[in-house]
Amino acid sequence: MRNSMDENEINPGEQLREVLKELFPADVKDNSFISKIDYIVQADGELIDLVYNSTINYLLRRLILTADFLKRQGEKDNRQNDVFITKLRAFLKDDMHFPEKHIGRISVLILECLDKRKKEVPSSTKDKIRKKAKNDNKPCYICGSELEFDLKKERSHNLVQVEHKWPRAMGGASNDFNLEVACSTCNSKKSDYIDASDFHYEKICLVSDENDEYFSTEMKREYELALWAKREFKCSICGKTSSVGGKLKFARKNPNDSWHFLNIDIFCEKHSKTSKTK
Ligand SMILES: [Zn+2]
Ligand SMILES: [Zn+2]
Repeated sequence: MRNSMDENEINPGEQLREVLKELFPADVKDNSFISKIDYIVQADGELIDLVYNSTINYLLRRLILTADFLKRQGEKDNRQNDVFITKLRAFLKDDMHFPEKHIGRISVLILECLDKRKKEVPSSTKDKIRKKAKNDNKPCYICGSELEFDLKKERSHNLVQVEHKWPRAMGGASNDFNLEVACSTCNSKKSDYIDASDFHYEKICLVSDENDEYFSTEMKREYELALWAKREFKCSICGKTSSVGGKLKFARKNPNDSWHFLNIDIFCEKHSKTSKTK
């Protein structure tokens, strides 16, 4: 059971991304090349969102990683922490051209992200989460496969791992509310990715059809992860994760069109059946 305090917690990286979105809101009605391409591929705004999110994620990474770089430089030169803070503020103001009035708020969030980056999950917490997952017979929350709980089988691709839903490297907390059990394959492929826009969604454009023998080879695990990520690893209809509703399946929105990122949606076992009969 999650405790109620956890529910209200937000990762500093997530907060920082919200600030960036406030400062640079998506202008859906603009006349950019993205809007034009979104229109011709009938993405209904989804392509605009992907490009927007990917650009915001890029900005978030630049801020967190540059700050980490500056901090390490300062530590190497044995400088005081306030020298690092001055450098960070100068980077935000002079290099990134953030408006003066937002620099205080942004710096505070960046420092919190750096703090989270360093904090690994305590082994006692990992033990507790793994033990509970084993008792509940929980599968990987991403791909839904059965987990190997014997830690001695370290080479197993289904070995249980404690995964940060919002990546630690991007300012994700090592607390219960941000942790889930995943298999080692999904954990490593998800890496420090935030959402579907961080994956190579543009490469997902398959030639084969569902029943072709090459389909499973073409639909690589990276692609599956990107597709699941676009619905935050939940069924697009009922919102169930694979831990509850079984492995999430794929179906096309338009059955006459090919299997490509914008035409594929994600369903639990039950809803994959109803979506296909339509
Ligand atoms: Zn998995
Ligand atoms: Zn469902």
